[in-house]
Amino acid sequence: ILLHVADRIRSRIDELAHLETLDNGKAIRETRAQVNASADYFEYYGGWADKLEGHVVPVRGRFHTYTVYEPIGVCGQIIPWNSPLPQAAQKLAPALAAGCTMILKPAEQTPTTALILGEMLLEAGLPRGVVNILPGFGPTAGAALASHPGIDKVAFTGEVGTGQEILRASVDNLTKVTLELGGKAPNIVCDDADLDAAVRGTLFGIFAGAGQYCDAGPRLFVHSKIRDVFVDKLLKMTQKIRVGDPLDPATHVGSLTTQEQLEKVVRYVEHGQQEGAELIAGGEQPDVPQLAGGYFYLPTIFDRVKPGTRLAQEEIFGPVLSLLDYDDDEQLVTDANGTVYGLAAGIWTEDMRRALTLAERLKAGTVWINTFRQTQISASFGGYKMSGIGREKGLSGLEEYCEEKTVWVDLNDRGIGYFDD
Ligand code: ADP
Ligand code: MG
Repeated sequence: ILLHVADRIRSRIDELAHLETLDNGKAIRETRAQVNASADYFEYYGGWADKLEGHVVPVRGRFHTYTVYEPIGVCGQIIPWNSPLPQAAQKLAPALAAGCTMILKPAEQTPTTALILGEMLLEAGLPRGVVNILPGFGPTAGAALASHPGIDKVAFTGEVGTGQEILRASVDNLTKVTLELGGKAPNIVCDDADLDAAVRGTLFGIFAGAGQYCDAGPRLFVHSKIRDVFVDKLLKMTQKIRVGDPLDPATHVGSLTTQEQLEKVVRYVEHGQQEGAELIAGGEQPDVPQLAGGYFYLPTIFDRVKPGTRLAQEEIFGPVLSLLDYDDDEQLVTDANGTVYGLAAGIWTEDMRRALTLAERLKAGTVWINTFRQTQISASFGGYKMSGIGREKGLSGLEEYCEEKTVWVDLNDRGIGYFDD
């Protein structure tokens, strides 16, 4: 069934990408890639469905001891608005492969493609009731899922504050919880980096999707030796980013998804200016008549941002890049790790010894070397520190939907000797 769903998603890519863009404002070039990725998720976990093996455990004495994976049970899955279809696929596919049943609550802002995915699952032969798509608001439908005693596991993606509420709600029933929360990824350009590649990766990392990704790279550390050259290249290429109609295939960056999000970005740009950072690009909505009234915002760059400021610490979830000073690798590691988050980090250097040493020292669930914001379903993803609990994707993501049962069989017919003497 999962493999059939993957085929169905691929056969409707134009329609699904169109709906996704209407719902959340991301550029169609991006939602097309995301629809493809959503198909991959079902294909990947469809492959796992008959491969999740337990093992035989070596123990002392005459026992046969083995483990089996069992489905964890009924899952409540709560997802955000930034990538509705891939988020739904990433939650549903592993839970189905594990043998669970589930209730998925899409974000109130973007419920459309999850409902269609539910239909596709039925068309592919899934029995009714196994997957339930339940659109609704967070404080009502979401909170009910988080606290219901019939729910065995809650998987949540969204803001830290909501994640904390979900974790609190889990206490009474000791519901198992996995959380994929915010991020504030550092993106580090060393003095020996391939600067053109680093510029492209940096811009992709923060401006694709108008920065509305938890693994976006809003904190840019550029080594002082190459700073001026790099910033010059960065600004030149930023001017070439096409912000516009999300349905136009030529558009690089569409709109923000909600008015709330636009207002948040505007607020943080004000904070940045009050905190003394230098605005060197963007900082306003595009002045284009066709975009008037939309939630569009220009790619925005602040220079000379101090590590302790709100701009450098808090998740904005918008197209705002902050440049921080960097001279030596020791201070860099302290500053790069100096937020409550630990979801992802990027490093640009041709020196692999330095790259791998930094990769080891950065507290992040994913580290990219000479690339940025690469994820695929086979590679696990999740957060250190306040970026989350547990992992999604890959085999780790599947195991989060399983209980491991250990079975002991006594092969020694004398039984337990404790009371014999
Ligand atoms: P974001 O705004 O980044 O999407 P949110 O945490 O606000 O992150 O929302 C993510 C998801 O969590 C949405 O589906 C939303 O409806 C849901 N949600 C919001 N509040 C609660 C809550 N108190 N309990 C459970 N789910 C919630
Ligand atoms: Mg929210």
